[in-house]
Amino acid sequence: MAKVELHNLRKSFGSAEVLSDINLSIKDGEFLTLVGPSGCGKSTLIRIIAGLEPQTSGSISIDDQSIDHLRPHERRVAMVFQSYALYPHMSVFSNIALPLTMTALNLYERLPLIKLLSPRRRKIMKQIGEEVKAIAAQLQIEPLLGRKPAQLSGGQRQRVALGRAMVRHPAAFLMDEPLSNLDAKLRVHMRSELAELHQRLGSTFIYVTHDQVEAMTMSDRVAMMDAGKILQLGTPDELYARPANIKVAQFIGSPT
Ligand code: ADP
Ligand code: MG
Repeated sequence: MAKVELHNLRKSFGSAEVLSDINLSIKDGEFLTLVGPSGCGKSTLIRIIAGLEPQTSGSISIDDQSIDHLRPHERRVAMVFQSYALYPHMSVFSNIALPLTMTALNLYERLPLIKLLSPRRRKIMKQIGEEVKAIAAQLQIEPLLGRKPAQLSGGQRQRVALGRAMVRHPAAFLMDEPLSNLDAKLRVHMRSELAELHQRLGSTFIYVTHDQVEAMTMSDRVAMMDAGKILQLGTPDELYARPANIKVAQFIGSPT
């Protein structure tokens, strides 16, 4: 579990400022949702937390320690990508194991191939196998480990994408519209699965969506964004009952 804090975070692409002075403190174990219209900066913000994009200024800390200098795999966060980000040529097992095999084989460091032949390799691979099976059992996809992503349903693929994040046991999960390419019925089902997973893991979830129903039903707190700023931060009840301004009221109140 982890507390994630953003201090005076700014991001510009060329002359366009897409995030302006974002301050946000996400509590340990909280399900916090960033919601707002397309183009308001949600993906940019979550990519900066993941280390996939550098901020222009400001800083990010986890449990009061700056993570600004850390590379993505060194941060205690894991991004849940949309299910189509799975590697089609790899089995479900290999897709889930990927972050662990990358670490075990030191692929991040690009060591010479000879290192891969070390006797420790077998032992490490066995441990990885056990870890992947345990995660797959939790997600109820153990029988699918030998399949390729093309042989899975949308919901099953989504679980594999979750598994890839879970094997790292991150302090915080980062999710950028993970349900947006699922059909409506499955999306509703996966909302409750994600909420249940959050309860079970007790980890901090930072969730991005442009869907106000998703935001209002799943979250402990919601940060409503517009044009690179946080317009309001509060529980779903607070945003609904006391919207800070007309933009929040319209967004929260508008039908899907
Ligand atoms: P959201 O996820 O809320 O839809 P984004 O974070 O993707 O919004 O984008 C916010 C703004 O930043 C948009 O105007 C988008 O065009 C711009 N933007 C995002 N990524 C880049 C990039 N790599 N280069 C230039 N502009 C970008
Ligand atoms: Mg986006």
